[in-house]
Amino acid sequence: MSNPWIRELWRMAVLFGSALLFGWWLGVPHGAFTLALIIYLGWHLYNLYRLERWYYRRKKTLPPDAPGIWGEAFHHIYQLQKSNRQRKKRLSSILSRFKESTAAMPDATIVLSEDDNIEWFNKAAKTYLGLKTKQDVGQRIDNLIRNPRFVKFLSRGDFSEPLELPSPLDDERTFAYRVVPYSKNQKLLVVRDITRIKRLERMRSDFVANVSHELRTPLTVVSGYLENMIDDQESSADYWKKSLYQMQGQTARMTRLVEDLLMLSRLEDEERPLLHDMVAVPAVLTALIEDAKILSGERKHHFTLECDQALWLRGSDKELSSAFSNLLFNAVNYTAKEGRIDVRWFQKESKVIFEVQDNGLGISPAHVSRITERFYRVDAGRSREAGGTGLGLAIVKHVLDRHGATLEIDSSPGEGSTFRCVFPESLAVHRDS
Ligand code: ADP
Repeated sequence: MSNPWIRELWRMAVLFGSALLFGWWLGVPHGAFTLALIIYLGWHLYNLYRLERWYYRRKKTLPPDAPGIWGEAFHHIYQLQKSNRQRKKRLSSILSRFKESTAAMPDATIVLSEDDNIEWFNKAAKTYLGLKTKQDVGQRIDNLIRNPRFVKFLSRGDFSEPLELPSPLDDERTFAYRVVPYSKNQKLLVVRDITRIKRLERMRSDFVANVSHELRTPLTVVSGYLENMIDDQESSADYWKKSLYQMQGQTARMTRLVEDLLMLSRLEDEERPLLHDMVAVPAVLTALIEDAKILSGERKHHFTLECDQALWLRGSDKELSSAFSNLLFNAVNYTAKEGRIDVRWFQKESKVIFEVQDNGLGISPAHVSRITERFYRVDAGRSREAGGTGLGLAIVKHVLDRHGATLEIDSSPGEGSTFRCVFPESLAVHRDS
């Protein structure tokens, strides 16, 4: 009889049965039965009282002893309490370990509530941002970090990229702010000191810019002399002329390399263009196609231009011309003679698109993802032959980033490529309106 309920039913049967028998013997069966009922109810009430007392005290004491169903109930509640206590202990040790590890982290870590109020922060947050435990817990974070770019970053809600800003306490240091949303509307703000990385990046780009700048003058002098020597018919015998032409070709290549490197370091260093100026893209494209025809020369590519004449763009004239020309000249360089090159400039729904399509060599998918890296070429020999520097698409990518635009590439080997620059509608200007 392991089931406590069956035992309890037996107990009831014996109690009420014997009360009835005894009552019958005395001639008061009803009275005896009622008495048994009162005793049974009293016993339940008494145990309920003991349970309530024991539970109320909430001490880790053993439950009171009781026979029958009450003993079972006490035992189950006790087991439940015990496992709850163990779980609580485990959770609080995890929590304190988490707090200890985040407190020891070198990056400033701040827990923010749904309304961006500070709930908790670690030691590094005090040194990095000057937060004070007593004063600042419960304050809004944008009351303490007041930089407008930070305020905008926090309210925008797109935390895919970190925000880089000078430290609020020391202009010489640069911090990267990263927000990690978690659980229900809570956020973790992690602030990392990237001063050293920034300094190294600046040193690298300064170095490249300085070297390129220093090379410019000697290259101009050398190519000037080479031109003179080629022009001077008497001094240049035929066997010299070939070498001179080769030297001139290489000097021109070095000059292009230096110009591209300088362009890239300018794009990296300078502030983003303000996007106030309006660029007459249709006129720029017409001029670029004329240049492309000259580059095509004997190769006689067929050019078409489909262009929305009323569509202009906000941005930097110089940068956009450089990006568009790189794409157009690549199409010329990587398309066989008499191939087709179609240029399009149009708005489609909320996108403003510049597109160059060719039926040239095409690029296999394995290369497409890496093609905008500096000096990445599918075929270095062919690129050099075409006068390429390996920096053209890196420049295009930078220019597009600075205009909030993206580069899309559709290409398949042997069939041709389409390079598409997709600008946000906010940059479009409709001249007729
Ligand atoms: P490059 O100066 O070598 O042309 P880019 O950065 O402009 O450097 O281009 C990188 C590489 O991408 C090129 O070397 C070439 O292999 C490939 N590429 C670029 N445009 C095209 C195109 N329209 N068709 C085929 N391949 C292309």
